Amino acid sequence: MWNEAVHQQRSCRKPTFGKLSKLLTEARARSSWLRDGSQVAQQQTLRTYALAFQHSFRVKGRGRPRPKRRKDTLPSLEYTTRGFSIRDHRLRLPGGVSIPVVWSRELPSDPTSVRVYQDCLGYWHASFVVRRDTTPAPEANGTIGVDWGVTTTATTTDAVYDLPYLGHRKRCAAELAKAQRRMARRRRVKGARPSNGYLRAERQTARIAKKAARQNIHDARVWVKRVVDNHALIAVEDFQPKFLAKSRMARKAADAAIGIAKRELVERGLRAGRKVVLVPPAYTTMTCSQCGTRAKNRLGLGVRVFRCDTCGYTACRDRNAARTILATAERNRAGADDVRHAITSFRDGARVRSEPEIPRLPAVGKR
Ligand SMILES: [Zn+2]
Repeated sequence: MWNEAVHQQRSCRKPTFGKLSKLLTEARARSSWLRDGSQVAQQQTLRTYALAFQHSFRVKGRGRPRPKRRKDTLPSLEYTTRGFSIRDHRLRLPGGVSIPVVWSRELPSDPTSVRVYQDCLGYWHASFVVRRDTTPAPEANGTIGVDWGVTTTATTTDAVYDLPYLGHRKRCAAELAKAQRRMARRRRVKGARPSNGYLRAERQTARIAKKAARQNIHDARVWVKRVVDNHALIAVEDFQPKFLAKSRMARKAADAAIGIAKRELVERGLRAGRKVVLVPPAYTTMTCSQCGTRAKNRLGLGVRVFRCDTCGYTACRDRNAARTILATAERNRAGADDVRHAITSFRDGARVRSEPEIPRLPAVGKR
C-alpha cells in the first residue's frame, strides 16, 4: 500500500488521505487480493503515508516518502478501533486472526489503536495507544546546563549529574565480532537460501547488538529522570552528531548514544513541564562562562582545560561549556519568544504528534 501510494505521486501531486482512500476503493474493486486484506490496516497505511508526506514539507532536509523495500523493512501494521478487539486476553484482528498476547502490563484504558510489528530479532510486538493519567513531577527550582561529549557522555554544570561514558557496545565488541565471524563463515553464495546455521548466527549477532542498545536506552532514562526531577530549567546543547560520526571517534561516539540521551531529556523534560532550551553549540567551548568573553582562537580537541585570558577563570573544558550553555539559555530567557519554532516529532513513520514548543536560540554569528 505504501509503495503504491508513493507511485501515485506523479498523478496525485498532493496526496491527502481522502484522495488516496478513493484510489484504494477503486483498487479494491479491481483486484481480489486487496479485497482479502483488512481495509482498516490498508487505510491506516495510507493515513500514515499522507501524514509523512505533509511532514516532509515542514521539516527541512526531510525528503518525500520513499518506497519501502522488503529486504530492509520490518513488517508493521496499524489497526484503529474498528479493526481490532481484545477478548479473553487475546488480540483479535480482521480475517479471523486471534493472537495470544503476553501482556507486559494491564491497559490503563481502552486502546484507540494497535500497531503490530516485528523487531530485528524476529519477535512480534503489539503496541497499544491508550490514555493515561500523568503523575505530576516534583517541585524543583534548580537550573542545569548539559554539554555532550565523547569522554563523558554528558557533562553538566553540576558534577553530580554527569552521565559517564558507559561503553555498553565496547564491552560486547569481542562477542559481537565472534558472532559476525561465525556469520561470515556460514555465508552461502549470493542467491542461495541461507543455511540454518547462518540464520542462527545472524539472530545471535542481532541479539548482542540489541542488548547494548537497550542498555543505552535504560541508562539514559535513569539519568534523565534524575536530571528532570531536580531542575526547572534545562539548557541542552543542540548537538549535531554528524561531525563526530565522520571523525576517528565515530565508534565511541556511536557507543555513547548521545542522540538517545538528548531525545529522552528533551521529551521527558517537556512532559514534566520543565523549561527546556536547545542552545546551538557554536562557540560554547571557547566562551568564558564567568565573564562571557570569547577566546580568539578555537580550543583544539586535545586541550581539556579552559583558561580565560581576560579574567583568568580556569575550568574543565566541558564543564565551562555546560556553564556557558546554561548562561546563554538564562540570558536569552526573555527574548526566546520571538525565536520559537514549533517542533513536531515524527515517530516510527507512524504518527505526527505536535509537541509543546521548544525555544531554540539563534546561533551567534557564523560558525
Ligand atoms: Zn573570563
